[in-house]
Amino acid sequence: MKVAIFEGKEQIVIKDGVKPEIKSDEVLIQVKKVGICGSDVGSYESGGPYLPGKIIGHEFSGELVEIGEYVKKLKEGMRVTVNPQIPCHECYYCLHAQENMCKLQNYSLGTTEDGAMREFLNVKAERVHVLPDNVTFEEGATVEPLSVAVYAVEQSGFQLGQNAAIIGAGPIGLMIIQVLRSAGANKIYVIEPVESKQKIALEVGADKVFLPKAWNKIVRLTGKLGPDHVYECVGLSSTFTTSLQLIKKGGNITLIGMHAKTLEINNILLMTTNNISVRGVYGYNHDIFKTAINLYAQKKITVDPLITKRIRLEQVPEMFKVLGNPPHDELKVIVDFE
Ligand SMILES: [Zn+2]
Ligand SMILES: [Zn+2]
Repeated sequence: MKVAIFEGKEQIVIKDGVKPEIKSDEVLIQVKKVGICGSDVGSYESGGPYLPGKIIGHEFSGELVEIGEYVKKLKEGMRVTVNPQIPCHECYYCLHAQENMCKLQNYSLGTTEDGAMREFLNVKAERVHVLPDNVTFEEGATVEPLSVAVYAVEQSGFQLGQNAAIIGAGPIGLMIIQVLRSAGANKIYVIEPVESKQKIALEVGADKVFLPKAWNKIVRLTGKLGPDHVYECVGLSSTFTTSLQLIKKGGNITLIGMHAKTLEINNILLMTTNNISVRGVYGYNHDIFKTAINLYAQKKITVDPLITKRIRLEQVPEMFKVLGNPPHDELKVIVDFE
């Protein structure tokens, strides 16, 4: 069995691994599809926070091939995806259904524990979500990033009929467009410099796309008010500043992009004078994961335009060289085990 291992900065290697044994509360999954995530690429570029020596892959789907003795609700042959977080189940946040804020935050499959870029993996049954028959393995492998988008929209307090602007049309931004559409958005505007991504944003439901320097056109199009919500999916000083300039007075900015530790922000006084709320969001919880699966089952979300490449496991190290050297045109890359 071949596995893809993170070994440190700019080092993803394919090695031989052993087929895992399962414990009584675990299941064995035959992996079908694994998505490469922006945070995988981030650790490849910088050397962390992923732990060296671990198998990567936290966005995946597969089929159950072995069931542990104590597992009741799962059966062989079920098609599944997995919530890769590993919560402690004991801390304040876990006991309040906020596993994404668990004291073990960042503890997860594919980052600090062995993940899914291998033919078979063992996981605790409680992390498994069964896929409805009409949800494909590719959709199943992208439930995790869709959950990030669903959580961001839910936490932002978005309401039916409101206008929104999304900064950055990467995979998460493109999913937020679709979640907002299904949540009854009025107008959805997107700021994105790359033409190929602008096109996909329009394809999945954006009303209009703009280059970063043309942000004030969005203000004009909303009766000189600005959108009710801005979803910031980039994380740069310049994009945060644009959010402050763009947003309606009293509006909400939701930060999803992993921001640099230090930002240089122009016009921060706007936050005070314009009564702007700024909110960070991270991860998702069990219920959000279910909502994401339901959105796929109801055909509210299309992932196909976001998938720019399908590769085999052996091609993973080469693909990271491309993804780790922007600019490139890739969005979601899927590793296919079928
Ligand atoms: Zn991810
Ligand atoms: Zn916890």
